Amino acid sequence: MMRMGLDPQDIEIIIISHGHFDHTGSLEYLKELTGASVGMSEADYQLATIAGEIPERDENDFVITDGMEITLGDTTLTALVTPGHTPAPSR
Ligand SMILES: [Zn+2]
Repeated sequence: MMRMGLDPQDIEIIIISHGHFDHTGSLEYLKELTGASVGMSEADYQLATIAGEIPERDENDFVITDGMEITLGDTTLTALVTPGHTPAPSR
């Protein structure tokens, strides 16, 4: 990013799609580098926490819920919590 003239501090939100180490392994470093808040589903927080792969949640982090809208600049994403590597939400 820095070689491309981008400032990591411009990153405000890190969205983790699921709690496996290949998605969370550098999270502590990235949080420190960017100061960004981290969002992931509760099931993924639990999965990654049990595995000891993520730093503790802080007040800037948030739980992504099914149907939740996340706005990034002028784009709004709608989260769909789906099974895959993560247990599906009960409906
Ligand atoms: Zn995975």
